[in-house]
Amino acid sequence: MCVPAVPFVCRFAPSPNGRLHLGHAFSALMNAEAARRMGGTFLLRMEDIDATRCRPEYEQGILQDLAWLGVAPDAPPRRQSAHFADYAAALARLDAMGLVYPAFESRSDIARAVIEAEARTGRPAPRDPDGAPLFPFPRAVLTDAERASRRVGGTPFVVRLDMAAALAAAAGDRPLAWPEARDTPEGPRETVAADAAAWGDVVLARKEVPTSYHLSVVVDDAAQGITHVIRGMDLYHATSVHVLLQRLLGLPTPVYHHHRLILDASGHKLSKSNAATSLAALRAGGATPQEIRRRLGLQPTPST
Ligand code: GLU
Repeated sequence: MCVPAVPFVCRFAPSPNGRLHLGHAFSALMNAEAARRMGGTFLLRMEDIDATRCRPEYEQGILQDLAWLGVAPDAPPRRQSAHFADYAAALARLDAMGLVYPAFESRSDIARAVIEAEARTGRPAPRDPDGAPLFPFPRAVLTDAERASRRVGGTPFVVRLDMAAALAAAAGDRPLAWPEARDTPEGPRETVAADAAAWGDVVLARKEVPTSYHLSVVVDDAAQGITHVIRGMDLYHATSVHVLLQRLLGLPTPVYHHHRLILDASGHKLSKSNAATSLAALRAGGATPQEIRRRLGLQPTPST
């Protein structure tokens, strides 16, 4: 193993709300093998903030699937559910900066407003990079005092980032951007300009879950000292939000490598609900880890 000239710490961060599929296997292998090549550290993180969908048996299944694949993390997994206080502290910091607000519009309020706006203008409503309509209500529809009293009164809410205010607060001499290693995690990097405005007022927490994917991923990558985030292309655009939150919270921006996605025969992203590509099912059907590698377009396991 070589001694790294610069620290190299990466992580695989599955949500234990189902079994791993071939796409997860690819991501886990990309991380573990980059860490090994670089003499670095490979960490595992269970993204289990959603208590309604995450289950201990799925976590056990993930650990079994990884062990079978030959992917061994260098430390026990970090569980997001054990760190709600850290996310609350980050959210409180953004709140103290005046950058977040409780929003009470339900999913159906939002859907109705989008349909009305599309009918009125005759044009499609603006959408985020994942294709969901941007939050269509301005923060100013309620005063801060009205929001505070509704919240105290128990109305369901989500906490949203005031994107315009956040971008203004984050503006500085350095543009918001991240280093992207295009070909391999340790390869040459190019600077990608972040476009967080494309996401509108994103949700950072909910009444019943006091954090969100965006907020916890940023807090945890910093807490775990991640230097290289290696994950699928499906999260490429979300990086804009992560870079903005890193700037606002005074956290470092790692290097990112967004790898190709593993698609099914009809060209769609794999999903946890499709049992045909779950590692557990493939293994039960007699597949070996080497066959999984071949199917993913990877070289056979390097001999150790
Ligand atoms: N938990 C996310 C997922 O399972 C991955 C998050 C990340 O790698 O940043 O898709």
